[in-house]
Amino acid sequence: MVTGFSTRAIHAGQDPDPTTGSVIVPIHATSTFAQDGVGGTRAGYEYSRSANPTRTALAECLAALESGRHGFVFGSGMSATDTLLRVALRPGEHLLIPHDAYGGTFRLVDKVLAGWGIEYTPVDLADLAATRAALRPTTRMIWCESPTNPLLGIVDIAALAELARDAQLRLVVDNTFASPYLQTPLTLGADVVLHSTTKYVGGHSDVVGGALVTDDDELAERLTFAQNAVGAVPGPFDAWLTLRGVKTLAVRMERHSDNAERVAAALASHPKVTRVLYPGLPEHPGHEAAAKQMRRFGGMVSFQVAAAPGADPATEALRVCASTRLFTLAESLGGVESLIEHPGRMTHASTEGSLLEVPADLIRLSVGIEDADDLVEDLLTALG
Ligand code: PLP
Repeated sequence: MVTGFSTRAIHAGQDPDPTTGSVIVPIHATSTFAQDGVGGTRAGYEYSRSANPTRTALAECLAALESGRHGFVFGSGMSATDTLLRVALRPGEHLLIPHDAYGGTFRLVDKVLAGWGIEYTPVDLADLAATRAALRPTTRMIWCESPTNPLLGIVDIAALAELARDAQLRLVVDNTFASPYLQTPLTLGADVVLHSTTKYVGGHSDVVGGALVTDDDELAERLTFAQNAVGAVPGPFDAWLTLRGVKTLAVRMERHSDNAERVAAALASHPKVTRVLYPGLPEHPGHEAAAKQMRRFGGMVSFQVAAAPGADPATEALRVCASTRLFTLAESLGGVESLIEHPGRMTHASTEGSLLEVPADLIRLSVGIEDADDLVEDLLTALG
């Protein structure tokens, strides 16, 4: 039966427990499973690093939401990234990453995997000619985000997928900012989707996790092997919390999008704000591509504020970040509560001095699902 998004979020992988009838998937807090004779597992489970039923439920649910056949869940978004990159690339091979990649992804590639012989080039992946020009005979993967963190850049995923197919490369999409409710990259031609489920998928800032979804059977087999061999798995309680959060993803994303549209419009007309980065604004360079591939424009808004002439460009941005009352100054994003942060000094500090350095006057908002009037008033008061 073909079902809608919320039906899948609430039911996929989550049949009532066959033993007790428990409507909610139990937290299978066990490291090991009794066997009926050597090699005789009762339901295919033998040890929780290899597989655990609570984790399986979440992986199946996320695969269904991303319209993919194989889902994997990890202890964090970064461990999902690391496992995928080490499975898909060999020393001496090359990948393209966004010129404004998430700072943690950049740090992993630049500080860890580069030491292991993986080569990379940061590129503006919205520019297809520049992307094509950056390919090498050893390039095996294009890694993209859309929208990007923290500059809210948009790439045309279908066009990039076509480019990747022509060049016989894998396209991976970090879909953390959009969530599967707003965008499903596999249906646009991507090979793998990655999530930091810490963000919108979990949705309540109470659990860290990551996920991969793919239709590629051979890659899925290698990921299964690598995840068991390396062990970057979430515990059953973390998988359960994420599964609890994902059930309301559609209603949360609608409200995040409503509120972010209100916030972006209010910021765009404020005299101290020099630029608002939100793909829902018609003047955003990626607006058309975003409107084509996303259901709505999401809850993330970044903006730049002018500092007084001669002052450190970060001064005013840091002052605003310290002045809001409802927007909590904190890293991370995608929870029901609104957060504010200074990427240059916080989430993206690892990009300082690199090609990926973010503007010093940039502020990033994760717009929550509180009342929009209160959020707008908080920001306008902080801006002064
Ligand atoms: N990808 C994006 C776009 C992110 O924003 C983050 C974290 O902020 C990650 C990946 C890494 O996820 P985690 O923090 O769950 O390891």
